[in-house]
Amino acid sequence: MRKSLKTSIATVSISGNLREKLAAIASAGFDGIEIFEADFIADYGSPRDVGNLVRDHGLEIMLFQPFRDFETLPEPARSQAFDRAERKFDVMQELGTDLVLICSSLHPAALGGIERAASDFNELGERAAKRGLRIGYEALAWGRHIDDHRDAWEIVRRADHPNVGLIVDSFHTLGRKLDPDSIRSVPGDKVFFVQLADAPLIDMDLLYWSRHFRNMPGEGDLDVTRFMQAVMATGYDGPISLEIFNDQFRGGNPHTIAKDGYRSLIALMDDVKRAEPTLGFNLPSIPPRIETKGFAFVEFATRGDEADALRNDLTTLGFEKVGQHRSKAAGLWQQGDIRIVLNEETTRHAASSWNARGTCVCDLGLKVTNAKSAATRASALGADVFTQPIGAGELAIPAVRGLSGSVLHFLDDSSELGRVWEMEFSAERVPVGAGLTHIDHVAQTMSYDDMLSWSLFYTTLFDMAKAPMIDVIDPDGLVRSQAVEAVNRSVRVTLNGADSHRTLAGAFLSDSFGASVQHIAFATQDIFGTLEMLNSRGFRTLPISPNYYEDLAARFNLADGLIEKMQACDVLYDQDDGADFFQAYSLSFSGNVFVEIVQRSQSYCSYGAPNAPFRIAAQKRLSRAKGMPKA
Ligand code: MG
Ligand code: MG
Repeated sequence: MRKSLKTSIATVSISGNLREKLAAIASAGFDGIEIFEADFIADYGSPRDVGNLVRDHGLEIMLFQPFRDFETLPEPARSQAFDRAERKFDVMQELGTDLVLICSSLHPAALGGIERAASDFNELGERAAKRGLRIGYEALAWGRHIDDHRDAWEIVRRADHPNVGLIVDSFHTLGRKLDPDSIRSVPGDKVFFVQLADAPLIDMDLLYWSRHFRNMPGEGDLDVTRFMQAVMATGYDGPISLEIFNDQFRGGNPHTIAKDGYRSLIALMDDVKRAEPTLGFNLPSIPPRIETKGFAFVEFATRGDEADALRNDLTTLGFEKVGQHRSKAAGLWQQGDIRIVLNEETTRHAASSWNARGTCVCDLGLKVTNAKSAATRASALGADVFTQPIGAGELAIPAVRGLSGSVLHFLDDSSELGRVWEMEFSAERVPVGAGLTHIDHVAQTMSYDDMLSWSLFYTTLFDMAKAPMIDVIDPDGLVRSQAVEAVNRSVRVTLNGADSHRTLAGAFLSDSFGASVQHIAFATQDIFGTLEMLNSRGFRTLPISPNYYEDLAARFNLADGLIEKMQACDVLYDQDDGADFFQAYSLSFSGNVFVEIVQRSQSYCSYGAPNAPFRIAAQKRLSRAKGMPKA
């Protein structure tokens, strides 16, 4: 029986000073750390104090790193390297850790040679053993003589010392496109440590790529799952550790980054277990990625005049109020399969959302196959389970805190939850409406630095995948946009990352104090019919420049009269392999939110990104005319 898996993260992976890092790492749930030498040197405590500080946080020092440029040096540099190692051994003993990482040499004087290296490691292993210490050797992808884990293993094998083992790092193996399955033949007890990192596939110098662009498993494009399957197949039962060098993380919030890291590790090891169940390692079992079945509801926090305005907006969209909550100041509005809750409570979560942001989307509900499993998986991945006192006539709907304080609820068809609308709202009737059938997508806005966190949240919790990142040009900057989509297409969320507060997305963020939902897209089968009905109810579309339609005629070969029809009601158009996409936007809507109406062909998989610059320009033109230059 293997030991249960321990999780670890290199202190270099997150921002802050050593003490801030330790607090964040401990509260995210890790068992230990790799202590990065520079982090330790910068601290004013003695090695013994630092060791105690780490243990006071409930953490173990799993590894001391890195020790560089050791092997295959000619004398006198060789003796000096051994002396240097002995001094590091002193520090390790004071810190209270028994394993040091030695990475393959970049030293210009290093002679190379597998035998020479093996004999250096045998001698160093002998010295380490006298102190009860161990040595792990890692092949850097850009090492001078050794840049491949297979060669590093050959050196370790020939060093033939019980205190000398191999350290593997997914970045160095996968970044050089080495076959991870070659790790499978290494005996598990000779693998002393495993370091994990993912990275986006970018064609650039390996060293630069590694130092600046690593990210958490699942955030990049490397097959970290297959790498880890190979490591576990050796029988390895040491710690699973993250070693991430990333400019964004270095500047990010240490708590967020540490939580993301923990989430990515748990999801990764769960994936490894599912991909190769025979590996038989010891990991508490958690429910698989949750299958979604659609959006269940969108809840607005609102109050007073703002609530009246929102009710009016919903009426122009063809929604009708179908029920009043049995005990709360909350109304249920419906059309097709779309449910919108207007929460005017003066206590609890909706009230604090409204106090902070005014009218905004405070909660999202997703239909899933099993709501309880969704909450269980989310909490195993480190999400905070959301609870608040349950009022009379209310069901306990499983929910977690999403990012930026938003709340995500899970509904399923189980006996109670399946009847939540009748039980809480006495809602029975479905209004005729204006042809809006369901929520096509919800757009959430965040600062660019938080985008990876959000996509990791969705893709580790749900059976969802990321679409490629797209740059959207705003007249005042750039917005990065990435969709996360349920594999079965039942839920689509677009994540928009703003760099500058001058972009529309950035202004939304600063005006709404971190609220996330910036627009909601409702689907219709007949956008022209729907818009005609909406216009008769007083709905007003965002006016689109006539030049847009001139350009459309030049870009697409569309049926006679279609462009005129689009222009008449400000409909934008996109096409993907012959599949149509029509979209129109609201001129305004309550609470910093706007509304999109879309008609999507089954096989159209995007969101009209080519139109986004014109939509944003139109929105900015309007707000500038109103004397609000920032948005
Ligand atoms: Mg490494
Ligand atoms: Mg959209």
